[in-house]
Amino acid sequence: MSAGRVVVVGLGPGGSDWLTPESARELAEAEDLVGYGPYLDRVPAGPQVRHASDNRVELDRARLALDLAAGGRRVAVVSGGDPGVFAMAAAVYEALDAEAGGTGRRDVEVRVCPGITAMQAAAARAGAPLGHDFCAISLSDNLKPWDVVLRRLRLAAEADFVIALYNPVSRARPWQLGAAFDALRAVRDPATPVILGRAIGRPDERLTVTTLAAADPAAADMSTVVIVGSSHTRTLAGPGGARVYTPRRYGTGG
Ligand code: SAH
Repeated sequence: MSAGRVVVVGLGPGGSDWLTPESARELAEAEDLVGYGPYLDRVPAGPQVRHASDNRVELDRARLALDLAAGGRRVAVVSGGDPGVFAMAAAVYEALDAEAGGTGRRDVEVRVCPGITAMQAAAARAGAPLGHDFCAISLSDNLKPWDVVLRRLRLAAEADFVIALYNPVSRARPWQLGAAFDALRAVRDPATPVILGRAIGRPDERLTVTTLAAADPAAADMSTVVIVGSSHTRTLAGPGGARVYTPRRYGTGG
């Protein structure tokens, strides 16, 4: 039997400009593509067998990919952005880790091809808000309790990180972003710059620069990443709209 393998590929935030040559090559060479339907739709048509699935069954998808590879197939698992950031690469390793034995999943070669993550794409559009220490927090409480999210938000705000918020809202989670803004307002200055990057890199891209006081949770959707500045993050007027950056040097009093 030929050696199957799983490659976990990041498609970037949208558009082929932000797909790495390595990822494009792996997609073209794969025999099977496994992933959430809308992501698979972004892969150019080809002879690969497509296994589209719902967004909520990551572990099933990971097991399917490993089983196909154990049977000798070359499988690409696709994720948006970077596959290692709140995405399928960890799911594939969870499936390996939970393997009870006998399925051959543990013997499958797994490789991860990095991609541009949403936070980097939105940051690039806005200026350079990630120029100093930052962190990323997912607001989804599907996979972790909400009090863990709140504690991380509070401590990250106190530690004065720039904070990127992934999964800010969904139909099932309408209130979390408002609660997150409230938690951050308790610590951070109301004038702190806030960036809402929606569908960055796609035709319906929208970038909004506002402040923590004025940030409206209703302006974000499932395709939005939110970047909240640190005490040093600055907004400058520019020809194409506001520009946001965080200086590399940490001054006194910050
Ligand atoms: N692996 C992905 C993140 C998956 S979690 C990555 O590295 O980007 C899904 C969340 O990512 C969304 O709720 C949103 O917060 C963010 N996201 C993904 N693509 C985006 C895009 N094109 N523009 C803005 N945010 C995006």
